[in-house]
Amino acid sequence: MTVAESDWTAVLDVVTRAQSVVLMCHISPDGDALGSTLAVGMALRARGVNVVATYDEEPFAMPSRLRFLPGQELLVAPADVPERPDVVMTFDTGSIDRLGRLAAAAKAAGALVVVDHHTSNTLYGTHHLVDVHAAATAVVALDFVDRLGVALSTDIATAVYTGLVTDTGSFRFAATTPEVHEIAARLLRAGAPHDLVGREVFDTRSFGYLQLLATVIERATLEPDAIGGRGLVWTTVTAGQRATFNVPYDEAEAVIGTLRITEEAEVAVVCKETDDGQLSVSTRSKGAVDVAAACVALGGGGHRYAAGFTSTTDVETTMMRLRSELELAICE
Ligand code: AMP
Ligand code: MN
Ligand code: MN
Repeated sequence: MTVAESDWTAVLDVVTRAQSVVLMCHISPDGDALGSTLAVGMALRARGVNVVATYDEEPFAMPSRLRFLPGQELLVAPADVPERPDVVMTFDTGSIDRLGRLAAAAKAAGALVVVDHHTSNTLYGTHHLVDVHAAATAVVALDFVDRLGVALSTDIATAVYTGLVTDTGSFRFAATTPEVHEIAARLLRAGAPHDLVGREVFDTRSFGYLQLLATVIERATLEPDAIGGRGLVWTTVTAGQRATFNVPYDEAEAVIGTLRITEEAEVAVVCKETDDGQLSVSTRSKGAVDVAAACVALGGGGHRYAAGFTSTTDVETTMMRLRSELELAICE
């Protein structure tokens, strides 16, 4: 699924005529969600559009590793979003429930523009800029900035670069096409501080995080015979462990990045207990298992190599269900 020219034209028309535009991204925003949102926010502001950006988080705060992102002055708390906005644009959000409590305002909007790259996107808007071949939502966001006729400032380039580097795992994952490197070159020429972004996103963690990581890796389980002998490695991050080491939820999202390097396992899974007692499950595959298919079957979404879902049952039951869905999602 790529974006049709008629969709671009329709969206540019809707957005540039709007009285005001509210930008939103998914709960627990990552670099692609927030980078895309703020890049488009800064471009719309440059075009003279009345624009604000938000996501569902209580208390409302920036994820600790994304505090360098430019354009944060566009952010408002969810409570300050009008009940029936003129136009809402969502970024990196495959289904409307991923907006959390902002879903109601998105549904009530005069127009709802969905900007995304998830294969599992449910096309819940009135307009869709969804390109499942894009390496990041940030790639679609950059196309939109260009089509708005806004020059690529260093700030916009930094926000787009953050999305691109996040979702390609520093240009290592399969989605990294020659075009991705061409876009990255353009962003660097515009002044994106790639060394700072890389260090912040991938190479800066609190000492407490390292201690939490040691604990949860020590307790990880390797099941070499799982998924038809392809191998599964998994662990759990409890709210209690996060409290012990003083690690906010968003920082614990990085645990999967370490667990997934396990040679003996095709699939890595981290079950994270959220502050409200649910389990947020992250899955990563090396390619032989379509984790998006398994997670969609359990009510979540994502991509072939990286996907997730939310579970309200205990870890044992959740893992049992996931194991059998992973068996069904073997593709190589
Ligand atoms: P994460 O493991 O949270 O980094 O997410 C990996 C991918 O799965 C991202 O593309 C997410 O958007 C998607 N994803 C994670 N959790 C969920 C969920 N509960 N529902 C739908 N998609 C999810
Ligand atoms: Mn995301
Ligand atoms: Mn993304």
